[in-house]
Amino acid sequence: MNFFQKHKFFISTLILLFVAAVSFAVYYGYVQVQEEKIRQNEYKKVAQQIQRKVANAIVLKEKATLAIALALVSQKDFQYRIIKKTIPAHYFDTIIKQFRENTLYKNIWIQVMDRNGKPLYRSWTNKHGENLAKLREEIVTIKKTKQILNDLSVGEYDLSIKAMIPIMSGKKMLGIFEVISHFNSIAKNFKEYGYESVVVVTKEESKHIKHPFTKLFIGEYYVANLNAPKNLRDLLKKVGIENIARKPYTIVNDYFIVPYSIKNSNKKVLGYDFVFQKVSRLQNIELEQFTFRWMILGLLFFSLLGAFINITLYIFMRKQKIYYKNIIDTSKNIIIINDKKKILEVNKTFFKYFKNYKTLEAFQEQNSCVCKFFVKEEGYLVEGDLSHYWLEVILKNTETTNKVKMNIDNETYYFSITAALIDAKKDYYSVVLSDITQEEIYKNELQKSVITDPLTGLYNRRYYYEKIKEEMYAAKRYGLALSIVMTDIDFFKKVNDTHGHDVGDEVLKAYSKLLQENLRESDILCRIGGEEFIIILPHTTREQAVKIAEKLRKSVQQSKEILPITMSFGVTEYVHGESEDYIFKRVDEALYRAKEKGRNKVEAG
Ligand code: GH3
Ligand code: MG
Ligand code: MG
Repeated sequence: MNFFQKHKFFISTLILLFVAAVSFAVYYGYVQVQEEKIRQNEYKKVAQQIQRKVANAIVLKEKATLAIALALVSQKDFQYRIIKKTIPAHYFDTIIKQFRENTLYKNIWIQVMDRNGKPLYRSWTNKHGENLAKLREEIVTIKKTKQILNDLSVGEYDLSIKAMIPIMSGKKMLGIFEVISHFNSIAKNFKEYGYESVVVVTKEESKHIKHPFTKLFIGEYYVANLNAPKNLRDLLKKVGIENIARKPYTIVNDYFIVPYSIKNSNKKVLGYDFVFQKVSRLQNIELEQFTFRWMILGLLFFSLLGAFINITLYIFMRKQKIYYKNIIDTSKNIIIINDKKKILEVNKTFFKYFKNYKTLEAFQEQNSCVCKFFVKEEGYLVEGDLSHYWLEVILKNTETTNKVKMNIDNETYYFSITAALIDAKKDYYSVVLSDITQEEIYKNELQKSVITDPLTGLYNRRYYYEKIKEEMYAAKRYGLALSIVMTDIDFFKKVNDTHGHDVGDEVLKAYSKLLQENLRESDILCRIGGEEFIIILPHTTREQAVKIAEKLRKSVQQSKEILPITMSFGVTEYVHGESEDYIFKRVDEALYRAKEKGRNKVEAG
């Protein structure tokens, strides 16, 4: 397996993640660039719209100013008064007041000049001042052309919108009628649409202003609207008027600022109308639509990519799972995956043993645990009282080999059992049962043959020595009584001699059986020699042992099996602390005495 095959999963995951990351970067970059483009375009569009609105407002005001001038100049007695050069002070006050109260024109100034440009009447002051022809080119122009003049200009007082009408008598010009209006009302109008304005006059033109009407300046720039908010004037000062006057728009301090160059009819720039709008109030539907569309597309794309990655991972995991499932299924061992409560999965081999069940569910319906099949026997693991006691035991004793004996459908199996934690978080364990039935049976038989006598099936001398040591130890430790009985067939040589060795063997078998039948389960009968036996009697005093021996002697005597025989018995009780050789010697002596005393007797020693 080369590197790529080996790390296929890892590499493909990396590639997918890389694709996802690159896609996201491209997507994010594209959306950002496009959004910025749309935003810029939209800003440009909005700036142009604002500029058009301002231009329209100025033209409208110019025309309206002219209309006012034309209306006023046609008053009947006007020519007469001009000839006489007598226009009373406050002559136009009433009409100006009516304008202020009923129209948007709050600041209309009226000036009447004689044919040379000397003021005869000024609505805003009583001072008539000097001849204006020297100061104002327009007066010279009107004198020459005798045409109406409607323009913007910067005068001594303000940046204003002017309508100048020559007053004619035939071909002779009598004077000039002038109506002057200001930028205030334009700015006010804009405010109603949510725009704030600051109208400034260029530095050069500001020099002409001797009596500033608004008394407001931003540095050397005269401010031409009375209601120009202070914060915006300060903002313009901070940003620098020259820095933003020529740009289509500027965004600063969350303000979207559009400058409009105010020009007179000769295209000379007189000043700027800065229109302010809060950026947050600019609605950009195209941008919103674009963002929404791309957000949905992005969401869709990345969901699909996520789903693809998920499916790929799922397929990979599935393959991997099938692969491992095959491995565990082909194992000869039973493999069980379980948590501490129940079985989660088993391999195919499981059902070779639990033949009655086709599926794990079917098994679980009737059995809560495999441990229910454990047979209680020394040397084998038991189910235990506590739940999963057996599993705990296996997990704790990893050094020792744990074995279980199981009874499945009346068949006995032996398994060596191991368990391992496979997922600590979920508390998952694998339990492996490997069949050792053959080995166990063979081993048990072997073990049995070592300690049994083949002729009679009783325990042999080797076992007697093993067992007597154990019993003496237990008796000593727990202060219990322990007795032994030694017995020998009387005149057995004769049986052999008379009936033959084979009959002798049959007699041995039959009386061994008889002895065994007359003993308790806990008594241990051993054939320690030709026709000599020892019986270990745990928890038995000498008196009780004598009674038992007596009972045995009688049964032998009364038995009708094969040949009538008798047996002699020696009985003794264990003295705490003595050796196994010593107790043997004592019981042997007791038996000897029984023989001495004529056989078929019980002697205690
Ligand atoms: P007693 O015990 O009453 O003193 O006399 P005995 O004739 O029984 O004498 P002893 O115990 O010394 O003799 C034992 C005899 O048992 C010797 C032998 O012929 C016989 N014997 C020993 N083992 C076997 C056996 O496995 N099968 C048979 N058939 N006979 C055996
Ligand atoms: Mg004998
Ligand atoms: Mg003997």
